[in-house]
Amino acid sequence: MKAMKKNLPVLFVIFGGSGDLAHRKLYPALFNLFRKGALQDNFAVVGTARRPWSDDYFQETVQQAIIENVKDVEDKLVTEFSQHFFYQSHDVTDESHYIELNNKISQLETQFNTQGNRTFYLAMSPQFFGTISQHLRAQKLVTDTGYNRLVVEKPFGHDLESAKVLNQQIGDSFDEKDVYRIDHYLGKQMIQNIMYLRLTNPLFDSVWDSNHIKNVQITLAESLGVENRGGYYETAGALRDMVQNHIFQIASQVAMKKPKSLTSADIHQAKQDVLNSIQMYDSDEVNRFFVRGQYDGNHSENSYRKEEQVSPDSTVETFVSGKLLFKEGPLKNVPFYIRTGKKLAQKTTRVDLVLKSSHDLFEENQDNVISIEIDPENKLTVTLNGKQLSQTDLSSLQMKFAYTQDEVAQIPDAYEKLFYDFLIGDRTNFVHWHEVKTTWDFIDRIEKTWQEDSRQPFAYQNGSMGPKEVSQIFEGTKDSWIFKG
Ligand code: NAD
Repeated sequence: MKAMKKNLPVLFVIFGGSGDLAHRKLYPALFNLFRKGALQDNFAVVGTARRPWSDDYFQETVQQAIIENVKDVEDKLVTEFSQHFFYQSHDVTDESHYIELNNKISQLETQFNTQGNRTFYLAMSPQFFGTISQHLRAQKLVTDTGYNRLVVEKPFGHDLESAKVLNQQIGDSFDEKDVYRIDHYLGKQMIQNIMYLRLTNPLFDSVWDSNHIKNVQITLAESLGVENRGGYYETAGALRDMVQNHIFQIASQVAMKKPKSLTSADIHQAKQDVLNSIQMYDSDEVNRFFVRGQYDGNHSENSYRKEEQVSPDSTVETFVSGKLLFKEGPLKNVPFYIRTGKKLAQKTTRVDLVLKSSHDLFEENQDNVISIEIDPENKLTVTLNGKQLSQTDLSSLQMKFAYTQDEVAQIPDAYEKLFYDFLIGDRTNFVHWHEVKTTWDFIDRIEKTWQEDSRQPFAYQNGSMGPKEVSQIFEGTKDSWIFKG
């Protein structure tokens, strides 16, 4: 195992330093890296937002974020950590503010000896990503000493066209190699484990192909509704919010060929090759292979349309299911059935690989299934056929591996893992522009078909696994969902 690098010198600027993401995820991730020694004396953080906060007040909010979100913390360490944080009131559209920000950064670089390494983290509304990155170059915050890295949150664009514009704006200031597009699913332990499992075990490696695998099922189910994010959700929907990024990232790791090596470049190449081969659908195929739903569309008190900031006649989908087909790679032409939605029966993120039956001697023979549970469990289950104890009948057996509670407690949060990765310049678990481009191209075709369709999304009951019409994605096969909720 590679030892964690210690005392990495860096100056962070967090745009959106007073926001929810910074409070719940970013400060706790930084604290855990401080506690483990990856960050020590030579780091400083400048938080920026519009509010006129003092450094002292900002440090208190950072301390609060740690106390609320990290277990077993020592007060002394929290205080010591917060002394690396400074605040700059900043309107991202105001040129003069970047000059003031640069002065503050330069002073802190000397104070903390951060060796000119700068990381700009954009934790705010995506509409500002382009503006900020252009100002960073124009007002000379991007320098020639040390590295300059840009970390951007999702969503990266709203469709292919807007993503291209954004990428162009960012590309004017930063090289692709310095842009870290976050998909926090890539920081999850069991998603990272997919590659280890499939590439290092002959047991899996030898069946990871279209001769043996009948279909792959990816489920990202949430039990909650849109909560207080109705306004954002009305502009996105399940397809943009979950499929374009998280589901495609998981699918490409499952479907890609073995990379030439474990370098970030070779892994991205393998992912891109398989994504390039995705079957793009015309509108007839979209209607056959994709189904959208909305929770409790019957205008009851619990319906999506009654949520705050949601239009009473909204046609935005809170559920989507579909079939993907890759034309290259080991799983060439194997159906990938995907689904994601809100207010479903159970919160779970999982991948089920269903194997073809190898013989027909037993009538009860069931499909072997490799199930990788990502969230909330970190578990691998292989469903096999075997003999019942003291009987001659064939029965379904399960071989399970789950991390213990103690081990799970040790798993770094996805953000902590990703922070460490971009601190050491490892881009493996970040999304390459080519991946963004291809997946938006696929998504846009579905969105276009839906926009031209006067029909409403199918209604589904809260606590179900989506509308009953989902079964149409299995058209012409005997396939069905492994996870039934
Ligand atoms: P938020 O609304 O809580 O915070 C936004 C921040 O931006 C605040 O600090 C605000 O002061 C600042 N801001 C807004 N306009 C500004 C301006 N003109 N100049 C300077 N500062 C300005 O948002 P959030 O939930 O923290 O989300 C931030 C980003 O992270 C978004 O891109 C979101 O999609 C993404 N994201 C958030 C979550 C989450 O759990 N909150 C999860 C995944 C992705």
